[in-house]
Amino acid sequence: MKYVSTRGNFHHIESAEAIKLGMVPSGGLFVPAEIPVISRDELKAMTGMGYREIARKVLELFLTDYSPGEINDCIDRAYNGTNFDHPDMAPLHKLSDSSYVLELWHGPTAAFKDMALQILPHFLSKAIKKVGTVNETVILVATSGDTGKAALEGFKNIPGIKIIVFYPHNGVSKVQELQMTTTDGDNTYVVAVRGNFDDCQNAVKKIFGDDSFNELLSNRGYELSSANSINWGRLLPQIVYYFWAYLELVGKRAVTPGDKINFVVPTGNFGNILAGYYAYRMGLPVNKLVCASNENRVLTDFFDTGLYDRNREFIGTNSPSMDILISSNLERFLFEITGHDGGKISEWLGQLASHGKFEVNPETLRRIGGILVAGFADEAKTLETIRQVHQKYGYTVDTHTAVGLRVYFDYAAKTGDNTVTVVDSTASPFKFNKAVLEAIEGSSAVVGKDEFEILQDLSRVSGNEIHPGLRGLDTKPVRHSMIADKAGIKKAVEEILGLA
Ligand SMILES: *Cc1c(COP(=O)(O)O)cnc(C)c1O
Repeated sequence: MKYVSTRGNFHHIESAEAIKLGMVPSGGLFVPAEIPVISRDELKAMTGMGYREIARKVLELFLTDYSPGEINDCIDRAYNGTNFDHPDMAPLHKLSDSSYVLELWHGPTAAFKDMALQILPHFLSKAIKKVGTVNETVILVATSGDTGKAALEGFKNIPGIKIIVFYPHNGVSKVQELQMTTTDGDNTYVVAVRGNFDDCQNAVKKIFGDDSFNELLSNRGYELSSANSINWGRLLPQIVYYFWAYLELVGKRAVTPGDKINFVVPTGNFGNILAGYYAYRMGLPVNKLVCASNENRVLTDFFDTGLYDRNREFIGTNSPSMDILISSNLERFLFEITGHDGGKISEWLGQLASHGKFEVNPETLRRIGGILVAGFADEAKTLETIRQVHQKYGYTVDTHTAVGLRVYFDYAAKTGDNTVTVVDSTASPFKFNKAVLEAIEGSSAVVGKDEFEILQDLSRVSGNEIHPGLRGLDTKPVRHSMIADKAGIKKAVEEILGLA
């Protein structure tokens, strides 16, 4: 399997090199040259397989330059009972006969990012050996809150790799911040940035594209790579759980093999839903992918009108991991939807960079509408949904999942679509405990309490134990306290690596 650039500006490479590079040095993202297909018969034969077996089936189709032993080793190190607190890794919770919630937060950091970031470091350390490099790899990560900790956990103490995480100062929850700033490991660095997630992401992308800086790094024995969902190795493991969820439904006889289902995905950078799209292109029977946004509804507007316009106010919401105005992986989706038209993608992304907007042609919009629908939920509706779902189903969800559920309920009411639907649950309710408890019990339940008291209260109200990744955060020492201006991100990298 070869990998190509979405902007047609790079030669074809193997997966190990694509994973090691992270993104195309001159701009653009790596995607597989062709999408492998799992036939209906093969899919049916996979019924009853465990998560790890399904992972093996999917990964081997894309990582053709990794040996079966290497792929198995990556799976063993990632999806096991030490890292995940549920034997299914991603259990499917039934809400009603036609709606299910896929719990993607049983990994070490309580958000779905673990599904990919527990395995990416192993893909990468094998890739480094395969490609052969003498330099130390430096992973730069921009995070809206959850990727940072998941990447730190995945990469800490992995030999030959340093990891530097940038997060928006005052733009993440207290728990998210403490998760990151208390990380141990002798190769981990965390920097708070006075700016928002887009500022962090843009600065990191700019560093990747900065030729003279990369040359300086190389002279000093360093090489950059990415753990953001711009890295193909981040996206690929996410395809697995779309197959897993479908096969679970078949196993529970909720659908018969071949029946189409819907997936609803709380979306920010468009990585998770893109993995669902690849699963669909691989032959998974999907009716609709529902893209759910919060008040930062740039994607909803784009899918409604064909105009992507980031020139709007950035809104800080209580689903902060979706507070994003530039969804990086949309580039990959558009590349696939246009039949690999790298010229068009370069043109559109160029306009986005220079004018903050671009508009796709009606034909492209029509094709998108064949598989994808979009909606958004505002703050009030998100909180109302947490309360309603708790009352009606006795089930507690976090704010991001609530955005997904609300958009799904609205979609089903509007269209009458009663196709069996899986809603991706992207974070444990404990991770966004304050908003969740307030939604269920009212604001008096949280006033004057710190997050750790709220965690206890939420445990009582939800009837669930506090997620293991969030216990004891209040007593761990803070090990990272660096703060930088958004214009000072490159300088922070220089300082950390001792280049200045
Ligand atoms: C990252 C994240 C999202 C958004 O996922 P994308 O792949 O960026 O679209 C949604 N919810 C939570 C909890 C997240 O951490």
